[in-house]
Amino acid sequence: AKDIIGVLFRAGKMATINDPLDENDLLDIGMELGVDVTIKRAETVEDVISAQLALPDEELGDIQPRPPIITVLGHVDHGKTTLVDKIRSANVAKGEAGGITQHIAAYQVDHNGHKLTFVDTPGHAAFGEMRARGANVTDIVVLVVAADDGVMPQTVECIAHARAAGAPIVVAMNKIDLPGANEQKVLTDLANQNLLPVEWGGDTEVVRVSALNGTGLDNLLETLLVTAELKELKAPTDAPADGVCLEAFRDEGRGPVAWIIVRRGTLRVGDLVLCGPSFGFIRAMYNDRDEEISEAPPATPVRVAGLNAVPNAGDTFLVLADDDIDIAREVAETRQVRGRTELLSRRGGPRTLEEFLSKKEGTIRDLPLIVKADTPGSIEALRHELGKLQHDEVRIQIIHEAVGGVNESDVYLASSAGAIIIAFHVVPEDRAQSLAEQEEVEIRRYNIIYNVTDDIRGALEGLLKPER
Ligand code: GDP
Repeated sequence: AKDIIGVLFRAGKMATINDPLDENDLLDIGMELGVDVTIKRAETVEDVISAQLALPDEELGDIQPRPPIITVLGHVDHGKTTLVDKIRSANVAKGEAGGITQHIAAYQVDHNGHKLTFVDTPGHAAFGEMRARGANVTDIVVLVVAADDGVMPQTVECIAHARAAGAPIVVAMNKIDLPGANEQKVLTDLANQNLLPVEWGGDTEVVRVSALNGTGLDNLLETLLVTAELKELKAPTDAPADGVCLEAFRDEGRGPVAWIIVRRGTLRVGDLVLCGPSFGFIRAMYNDRDEEISEAPPATPVRVAGLNAVPNAGDTFLVLADDDIDIAREVAETRQVRGRTELLSRRGGPRTLEEFLSKKEGTIRDLPLIVKADTPGSIEALRHELGKLQHDEVRIQIIHEAVGGVNESDVYLASSAGAIIIAFHVVPEDRAQSLAEQEEVEIRRYNIIYNVTDDIRGALEGLLKPER
């Protein structure tokens, strides 16, 4: 270090032992000191990490059944929080009940000897945000619909998010204790969203519950287990763990603390973890009841201490060999410096109509669109006109449509699904606009239907004209 600092000093650069050096400095130092310098870029390490995360389960050893990971979504005030709390408190023994007042990011319950993991996402925009960060951990979505209110605008957004995530939807028809509950209306509303209830011959399970007094919750858990069983959820258990950070904060005494959920493998105290821009050896691990544990198998949510910094919600984590501590540090530092925005642009998938066009590989490609418009009539007309566009290789897929300005939920949905947003006679909300820039989501604004169809047809035919 002394020699290196000396070289830098002679070149007029003041550096301490903790300063990062740029490439030119490194090459100069190499020349001065007469040593060969090989620069290993963190990006190439990132590629190795991505490859490890993308390894198929079978290559990670013995595959075992695992609990389903469930996220509860729904329109505001329809009862998500009450439901999540009720399921948890019903499952916590009396003596522990004090522990449940504390906020937790996820928990596990036991129903007739089977485990279910619930993730407490603060709303569907956050759900979309997690997915936009590449963190798709949800197997099943519970869609809460209040029986006295029916399907509302945010319910429709939740449905779009669940579908984009490829997660089956189980409907919890909540507040059935209320005199104003109108079950038939809820079922009709659901059918109108292409969620045809089982009792009407469709395949959407609709479970009547009252989150307030606990009615129907056993039934809901049972339905979730049956849905999970159909998915045959499995994961390798005897492998280095990977998974996702649900949320993280700095604890006065313990330093950075992260709620993470193990996707595959088993996480152990002492493991070297790289999680987004943070790394460290797991010093202590706690379950959702605040009990200290030493091992966490797949689908287990745990709170861990030992990371050197606070990671972000949605950051992926993985366990590295102890020897790889230098790699972990380097990657974490590079990520720190590079920051969140740039990390995002590493995601694959086209972002704009132009990019979509330039991506030619594959035979049939989907062009996912989100349509926001001023009136139901406009949406109807757009859907009709877009439906007329046919192409051998490209399928237009409207993944969400709704009346109203472009909001944050739309942007996260577009970001995670690689969709383009068509704003017809509407403008993006301020926060959605800046979010779109950050997430590199294209919002195309139009006032004339035929400009929309012309552009999309143009895109399909490879003749995209500039935005009007
Ligand atoms: P969230 O915004 O979806 O999380 O909704 P909350 O869980 O905060 O519930 C909104 C309101 O509805 C609260 O006042 C709850 O007490 C009430 N609520 C939730 N579930 C029920 C239910 O099953 N029956 C009745 N009567 N009220 C409920």
